[in-house]
Amino acid sequence: MYPFLSIEDFHLCLNNDKTSCLNAVQFYLHQIKLNVHLNTFLEVFESESIARAIELDEKRKNGIKLGKLYGVVVSIKDVLCYKDHICSASSKILENFVSLYSATAVQKLLDEDAIIIGRLNCDEFAMGSSNENSAFGPVLNPIDNTKVPGGSSGGSAVAIAANLSMISLGSDTGGSVRQPADYCGVIGFKPSYGRISRYGLIAYGSSFDCIGIFAKQIKDIALTLEVIAGCDNYDSTCSHLAVKNYSSALSNSTSLKIGYFAETLTHPALDPEIKSTIESFLNKLNINGHTVKPINFSMLDYIVPAYYILATAEASSNLSRYDGVHYGYRTKESSIKNIDDMIKQTRHEGFGKEVQKRILLGTFVLSAEYYDSYYNKAQKIRNKLALETKEIFSQFDCIISPTSPSTAFELNKKNKSAAETYITDLYTVYANLVGIPAISIPLFKHTNQLPFGLQIMTDNFKEDKLLSIANQLLNMKN
Ligand code: GLN
Repeated sequence: MYPFLSIEDFHLCLNNDKTSCLNAVQFYLHQIKLNVHLNTFLEVFESESIARAIELDEKRKNGIKLGKLYGVVVSIKDVLCYKDHICSASSKILENFVSLYSATAVQKLLDEDAIIIGRLNCDEFAMGSSNENSAFGPVLNPIDNTKVPGGSSGGSAVAIAANLSMISLGSDTGGSVRQPADYCGVIGFKPSYGRISRYGLIAYGSSFDCIGIFAKQIKDIALTLEVIAGCDNYDSTCSHLAVKNYSSALSNSTSLKIGYFAETLTHPALDPEIKSTIESFLNKLNINGHTVKPINFSMLDYIVPAYYILATAEASSNLSRYDGVHYGYRTKESSIKNIDDMIKQTRHEGFGKEVQKRILLGTFVLSAEYYDSYYNKAQKIRNKLALETKEIFSQFDCIISPTSPSTAFELNKKNKSAAETYITDLYTVYANLVGIPAISIPLFKHTNQLPFGLQIMTDNFKEDKLLSIANQLLNMKN
């Protein structure tokens, strides 16, 4: 068996001829086959990844300069376009859609010699918290197959937890990287809005959407971020700030000013054991010389509704392009006489229930009569949050909180109730509303044997600080 520890170690092994890119690819292809019941991959690029591995091994033997991620086996959520490959967003409406170009993040991985091994199952159009909204069946949690892996990037989290690739990419609009990472016991990182280009990422809520990274090691997240971050002429919302050397800037043992929202720990939805574990961890941080202080945060009850109003409003506009004319699926119904009915029927057949619900909700909150009562109000909340956040980070290095109120829940249970499912986003949507970077690190284990993590957030574009803090706190586990 090929034991992957970190990218750095893998490169060392390659350079010492202890392994090869082909060996690594074969290992992961075997793992994927062994774990096919988890339903993690929608497609495995088997022959292609083998060919690329052979090519990279040749390149290395011939002394040709190799990229920063050479031979690194990556899997990508099925909302990221990869030229000449299907990108379906786990939806029937895009089931056979072949992308004409690669997302900037995907292209940057390829340019640095990474190997893309396949595309990963997720909630349809990244809408969901359990991966049960995929048109191609749910993904199972590898730790307990009766539980969900979280969502919407469920496949991306499982790809790491079950050793199906070295790193994986997901997308995070309201928590879709951090929450599944929390449920599967791996690291899930969402950068600041605009740190990684969204070009080629299928849009859900464009003012929230971020590409995120899953891995087992912070240094692997840092190195991947270094490669895929940066401005892009194809995404005008992408920041021009210079990309730092995140992987070489992972400092340790500094005394931190840590804030936490007192309300997050007294919320009735929070599992009592997660609450007590995080409280003891805060105490431990204090004892270890950090300053830990509560921050009053009166807006906790508003952030999930604000997120669902704004994200669905944006989704209703973004998803209007799937009409049976421009892209993908078109109804086969022969009795249809005009184009409006064709579009209606196509969308009715092509979109799943959750996506249809969100399009309706988003259209409703944007309608002339209700615009002020919902959309405008939610925007005001977003603005107020941004101001408060500025103030908080003038006093604190980071904010910490649970990542989710519970551990991974039972399959086929919550998805029937929107309120129950949406509350799983309680702690994650804040970072998306204000655009700050956030990470979930796997620190704890519940008595129900499932893992759970800690969420850390820093100020905008302070990814270097965030990754250093995450590294430092993860080291406390050892
Ligand atoms: N669970 C949230 C939702 O369903 C977040 C999804 C996401 O981040 N893509 O909207």
